[in-house]
Amino acid sequence: MNFRKASALAASILAISLTATACGSDDDEGGSSGGGSGSGGGGGDTITVGIKYDQPGLGLKTPDGDFAGFDVDVATYVAGVLGYEPENIEFVESPSAERENMLSRGDVDFIVASYSITPEREESVSFAGPYFLAHQDLLMRDGEAVSSTDEINDLTLCSVTGSTSAQRVKDELAPDAQLLEQGTYSECLSGLENGTVDALTTDDSILAGYAAQEQNVGKFELAGLELSDENYGIGVAKDDTELQGQINDALQQMVEDGSWDQAVEDNFGPANYDAEPAPEITAAS
Ligand code: GLU
Repeated sequence: MNFRKASALAASILAISLTATACGSDDDEGGSSGGGSGSGGGGGDTITVGIKYDQPGLGLKTPDGDFAGFDVDVATYVAGVLGYEPENIEFVESPSAERENMLSRGDVDFIVASYSITPEREESVSFAGPYFLAHQDLLMRDGEAVSSTDEINDLTLCSVTGSTSAQRVKDELAPDAQLLEQGTYSECLSGLENGTVDALTTDDSILAGYAAQEQNVGKFELAGLELSDENYGIGVAKDDTELQGQINDALQQMVEDGSWDQAVEDNFGPANYDAEPAPEITAAS
């Protein structure tokens, strides 16, 4: 055994374990050590942030591997306040049904992914925010949009497993409607395009992004029904009040210095989406 080889191996094992520690938050499962993420920051450490990959305007992974959207801008701003340069943010995909699990397991430090604050979710995760207000709506083929909630029961709908949108359809909105549940909204969009479903239902912020995509112009329209209030929060591990407080402060700063308005304009302007004003940040504990 060559000593240099062995020490190089040891060094790379050390490097791997350091990276692993830095990537996932290093607090214990269910423990509330305050998270390894917020404190310290910088210094070449990375922070791991869950986003959506297929929601143009909110969270999108582009073909060349970049990330774009309002949630990405919010995440980048917050990470910056916590001491992380954009190149030290590791974005990972967090599908709707996986968000609570990813936070509980410590796979991510926080999640910014069109993630509505709800009492059910607050049983297993904590939220900073809210930082955005959207409303559930329907996206339908152009010229076919319904104009009242009574008509929804007659439709074949598509939404995403683990979303408030799918849950609301089943619980109250249209319990008699046929509901196809997919893993992502882009899968629903394909169904809408090929006629398998009549409507894709989720937040209007997401639907407006799809409708405005170059390849979709003129194909779809939003019904404009404002079926709910969806207050987006930034998910953190349950009871990580230290990180939650730091993120709330960062969000407040983002609103006050005009970056929040700028991010709204940059990301929703092209879709002609009329965003609600910044909500008051209330999720302090
Ligand atoms: N905001 C809703 C939710 O958190 C729908 C969008 C989504 O699935 O990300 O469930």
